[in-house]
Amino acid sequence: MSMHHKARKRFGQNFLVDETIISQIIAAIGARADDHLIEIGPGTAALTKHLLAQCPSLQALELDRDLIAKLRVRFAHCSEFVVHSGDALKTDFKQFYRNKPLRLVGNLPYNISTPLLFNLLRQRHLIGDMHFMLQREVVDRLSAAAGSKSYGRLSVMVQYHCRVLPLIPVPPSAFRPAPRVQSAFVRLVPHTTAPVLADCEVRLAKVVAECFQHRRKTLRNCLRPLAPDLAGLGQKIDLARRPEQLSVADFVALSNLLGSGEALPNTPSDVQALPLSESSIND
Ligand code: SAM
Repeated sequence: MSMHHKARKRFGQNFLVDETIISQIIAAIGARADDHLIEIGPGTAALTKHLLAQCPSLQALELDRDLIAKLRVRFAHCSEFVVHSGDALKTDFKQFYRNKPLRLVGNLPYNISTPLLFNLLRQRHLIGDMHFMLQREVVDRLSAAAGSKSYGRLSVMVQYHCRVLPLIPVPPSAFRPAPRVQSAFVRLVPHTTAPVLADCEVRLAKVVAECFQHRRKTLRNCLRPLAPDLAGLGQKIDLARRPEQLSVADFVALSNLLGSGEALPNTPSDVQALPLSESSIND
């Protein structure tokens, strides 16, 4: 049974219709019956119906009430399947957590994808992996290496927390209605053991944000507002480099160095001022 539904732009609804792409996505997720699998934005169930066949205890989170009602009717026979009504941006995923890391999947509404990623990164300790369809440009930024054009704040902060694997490029024709942009399906795996560890994540976020505000400037110029006395730091790192040349490990080392000199105080007000924020993360 299919679901008739007029796509709503405000909910970022671009439904997957290309069965080849859908099969590739389902294979990449590799859901198992005992997974704690959560689908964000099931929509008209293009992925849901396949996921349910592999994992009957799938939970879904949808914002559009019309779709929620239709999904509940269509899958009424699936006794373990629950369609939760809610906004993924405001969802505390602890409610889904039992004794096993969550596996999150979704063809995400592109208008909220970056804030949503940051909401999920804040809850990464609950999450085993994430498989998402995103705008291609966002996937490029998530996975960019130092020195490349797409490398920026989003790359550093996401790669600090997760392994990023772009999996499937997806053309607009795979969706109805077709989005105006290219898409890509990506896997994000939160690190269980961080490859590099910042003494203070708030400081790291602040240093990265400050640096990428002026990606063409040298570190010396970028860091001046954060650390007035750069003489000592200059002996340990090359301040003539530009932020876009620094790897994640370099940023962590820089942030740790700045902390060791107490150049950047880590006060509770800093912590409040700088949650992992999605604001101006487009650099
Ligand atoms: N999974 C379906 C597919 O692949 O065809 C639908 C994908 S569509 C791009 C995004 C879905 O997310 C829509 O069903 C939309 O209603 C839902 N959605 C939009 N904003 C949401 C939010 N804040 N929280 C949860 N779901 C949301």
